[in-house]
This record gives sequence, structure tokens and C-alpha cells, in this order.
Amino acid sequence: MAKDPICGMEVDEANPAGSSSHQGKTYYFCCEGCKKTFDENPEKHAAGS
Ligand SMILES: [Zn+2]
Repeated sequence: MAKDPICGMEVDEANPAGSSSHQGKTYYFCCEGCKKTFDENPEKHAAGS
């Protein structure tokens, strides 16, 4: 399971609601809202994960 960097929920990598690549790493999201939040500011949300 991958962890949604926005809300901390566990997301099934095989069937995520959304995913984004940032600096060579793929992030998975529980819903489109979390993906959108990440995409608006990936630097902030990718840091510390
Ligand atoms: Zn989420």
C-alpha cells in the first residue's frame, strides 16, 4: 500500500483514485481532491514523505 501524502490514507497502488509523478517518484491519492492539492504545490507535499 502507498500512503496518500495529503491526507495520510493508505491507497492501493494497483487501483488509486489518482497518481502524480514528482522528481522521479510516483505518489498515489485516495481521491481527485488530494491529487489536485498535491499538483498545486508538489514541492510542499512531497517534502518529508
Ligand atoms: Zn487523500
